[in-house]
Amino acid sequence: MIVDYHMHLRGSVAAGPEPLVHTVEAIERFVEVAAARGVDEIGFTEHDYYFRQTREVWRTGYQLERCLFDIEDYVGAVVEAKRRGLPVKLGLEVDWWPGGNERLHELLAPYPWDFLLGSVHWVDDLAIDFEPGLWAVRSVDDVWRGYGAAVSDLARSGLVDVLAHPDLAKVFGRRPSAEVLREVQEQIVVAALAGGCAVEISTAGLRKPVGELYPSPELLSACCQAGVPLTLASDAHVPDNVGRDFDVALELARVAGYETVTVFEGRVARQEPLGPLVPRAQLVPA
Ligand SMILES: [Zn+2]
Ligand SMILES: [Zn+2]
Repeated sequence: MIVDYHMHLRGSVAAGPEPLVHTVEAIERFVEVAAARGVDEIGFTEHDYYFRQTREVWRTGYQLERCLFDIEDYVGAVVEAKRRGLPVKLGLEVDWWPGGNERLHELLAPYPWDFLLGSVHWVDDLAIDFEPGLWAVRSVDDVWRGYGAAVSDLARSGLVDVLAHPDLAKVFGRRPSAEVLREVQEQIVVAALAGGCAVEISTAGLRKPVGELYPSPELLSACCQAGVPLTLASDAHVPDNVGRDFDVALELARVAGYETVTVFEGRVARQEPLGPLVPRAQLVPA
């Protein structure tokens, strides 16, 4: 079994600069690429801050500018695609947001999620993966410490099912001291286990300045040894990136020791044998 449990449902670029399009037809484009790349099931995980139902918790201009869409349209499109038999799951990428987490999860509770991804993109309301963000006000070691503490809090909260891009702080290739890196990695593994979270291997890092998969081989091996379950992720924002570089992700998973992958249904996890990638259609995007 191969899953891609991290992607953002977007339409053609003609629909605008951030073309969120919540239709079954848009979903079908992602499903076609998944089949062509040998991915059995995909999960949509739009960012929580795109939906006006979550507006009351946000504090930054970045989020408030994007908080325009109706979550009912998004959920409705994915639920309808499931009803028609497409191999899709309903998820959401949920930011760790101190001060707002409890309310945020109350607002999300009414919807039929298959799984929730938890992400840390912000520490002290400053971005990890945009510049200048947190990098302008903290040393590299302190960015990593703040990131590790936030991921640990997120994992222990029990609010989410999967930790997204679990070492995102490497996005620009800035590394902490070996000691800080070891501390942060240990903290994340212990917290994932305590909170019952899976971790994803994300191929998105290959397309970022760091040019590596998330997480590092060391962190993933430690997760596997501790018994933290696994999912796979492209973080696609266009259909063409669904399942991209999953051969590399599978290799990392096997080297780390994983033999199973996590499948979610209604926020209940089960393990399935991992792989193989078997492309099932003629259409393979360039
Ligand atoms: Zn993310
Ligand atoms: Zn994402």
